[in-house]
Amino acid sequence: MSYSVVVIGGGATGTGTARDLAMRGFDVTLVERGNLTEGTTGRTHGHLHSGARYAVSDKESAVDCMRENRVLHRIAGHCIEDTGGLFVQLEGDSDDYFERKLAGCAECDIPTEVISGEEARRREPYLTDAVERAIWVPDGAVDPFRLCVANAASAVEHGARIETHAEVVDLVVEGGRVAGVEVKRQGPNHHSEGAAGDTETFEADYVVSATGAWAGQLAAMAGVDLEMAISKGAMVVTNVRQLDTVINRCLPKGEGDTIIPHETTVLLGANDDPVDDPDDYPEEQWEVDMMIDIASEMVPVVADARMIRAYWGVRPLYDPNPKSTTDPGDVTRNYFVLDHAERDGVAGFASVVGGKLTTYREMAESVSDHVCEVLGVEEPCRTDEVPLPGSADPSALDEYMDEFDLRSPIARRSGQRLGDRAPEVLDIDEPNPTLCECEAVTRAEVRDAIDQVGADLNGVRLRTRASMGNCQGGFCSHRLGAELYPDHGAEVARDAVDELYQERWKGQRHALWGEQLSQAMLNAMLHATTMNHDANHVAGDENIEYRAFDGGRTAVPEGSHGD
Ligand SMILES: Cc1cc2nc3c(=O)[nH]c(=O)nc-3n(C[C@H](O)[C@H](O)[C@H](O)COP(=O)(O)OP(=O)(O)OC[C@H]3O[C@@H](n4cnc5c(N)ncnc54)[C@H](O)[C@@H]3O)c2cc1C
Repeated sequence: MSYSVVVIGGGATGTGTARDLAMRGFDVTLVERGNLTEGTTGRTHGHLHSGARYAVSDKESAVDCMRENRVLHRIAGHCIEDTGGLFVQLEGDSDDYFERKLAGCAECDIPTEVISGEEARRREPYLTDAVERAIWVPDGAVDPFRLCVANAASAVEHGARIETHAEVVDLVVEGGRVAGVEVKRQGPNHHSEGAAGDTETFEADYVVSATGAWAGQLAAMAGVDLEMAISKGAMVVTNVRQLDTVINRCLPKGEGDTIIPHETTVLLGANDDPVDDPDDYPEEQWEVDMMIDIASEMVPVVADARMIRAYWGVRPLYDPNPKSTTDPGDVTRNYFVLDHAERDGVAGFASVVGGKLTTYREMAESVSDHVCEVLGVEEPCRTDEVPLPGSADPSALDEYMDEFDLRSPIARRSGQRLGDRAPEVLDIDEPNPTLCECEAVTRAEVRDAIDQVGADLNGVRLRTRASMGNCQGGFCSHRLGAELYPDHGAEVARDAVDELYQERWKGQRHALWGEQLSQAMLNAMLHATTMNHDANHVAGDENIEYRAFDGGRTAVPEGSHGD
């Protein structure tokens, strides 16, 4: 008999768990209240940790990170950029800490190389002259969107059902056991089935909550008290890629001291401030300023870069000894599988909390092992060996590019994004123009994404990166909308463009000074002229005082700064 399991949450942990359980033969349904990556996974820094960051303070997490870093290279090559990372010591930074970092890395099996300040600047010319020396470590950049989608695709290949826009509004508890979930649709799923407001109950032999920062809210639906130690962090995106290596400051306490090259951009971040509600917390200008100030101590050109957007995420941390520390930076990055039968007397239900994007697969393996143990299934985990779709042979990318005459930068980017799916997606009879110039996304890729998600342009964005570059959808959003027609009606296409545009705006409004302010105004005008939108495209948002930011970020009105 095949047992049924409902996995709640469509982030990396949830999709990874759905994949793992489906590969072990379970009948899996994953429910996610929004799009895949809607939660923290879509709001991370994208740092594929080597573990060096935690090698002094949190060795268990450091070891997990390095092990999973190696696994992800095996199974998810097309989602990773092997940038390497540098922990830089600037003038005045502690020698003692530098040595402890090196010793910690050795203890955690993290390869290192100590290089001089001169060599560090040879590798990354924009580093400050104040760099005295640096430790090279195998950090990298990971694309959370592709990683999550690849896990979901693999789960589906193994028979799982993925229901997006399906919010769990209650857990069905019968005789002290969770027997299923009650779901309310927030809109059609990615197959355009169902409608907002529809409700449905999914019965299950076991329910896994992989809801990250929302795990406390889900547990409460079963009468379980689960206090999370969640904290927010802001990240700021520059318009060009000034660096090819992940840069970390080699200091004991690190807030906002990591710079990650990501596709065409660089991400600065992130602070670490406790919040109570993952859906309701302030996004403040001082956080944006702080990220820029700290990053520019290491890479001065960052201070003058054009910032194209800022975004926030909430860490799904759990402290097994609540209130043991008042500093969120000290809360462990370890993960925990909480068996609510053992912990709270509610059977058929577990939560998987804490951890990192880098360790998502191991978290999924642990909670899947737990489900097997409870249900008496003896099937081993294979997710550490079987490559994700598109990733079977990353070196095959070059061959594909030759085959399709894909030596142009645009074709190279398509090939990198698609991995071994490139032939299937790009080999089309029709012309294949570029729809998003900033991110080099062609019509074939957009069509492929629409086939997967339907009339959901944010879903297309997550799969292709269309609208995530310099112009933030100014020049491509209406072209993406046009691809929906005529399969979807004009009204659906128009709503989809509006939703995409609102989402893009959400991040830009925190970076409205200098050239980005001009770009945002140009975008508003383009939207009004190409889409004939007379109404304010930010309708429903708070009143934005554009001119408050006109003179640059130092002209932010007094009182908006945190210090
Ligand atoms: C600022 C910041 C920077 C970070 N940077 C890094 C980094 O560089 N590297 C790294 O390894 N890690 C990083 N992390 C940590 C990492 O992003 C997270 O640990 C990881 O993404 C969590 O994934 P998850 O699947 O557990 O949770 P999530 O991605 O949050 O998934 C939970 C899902 O549950 C859904 N959900 C919630 N309630 C319901 C409901 N009622 N019904 C249905 N669905 C529901 C949510 O919509 C969400 O999609 C960072 C985190 C933050 C906040």
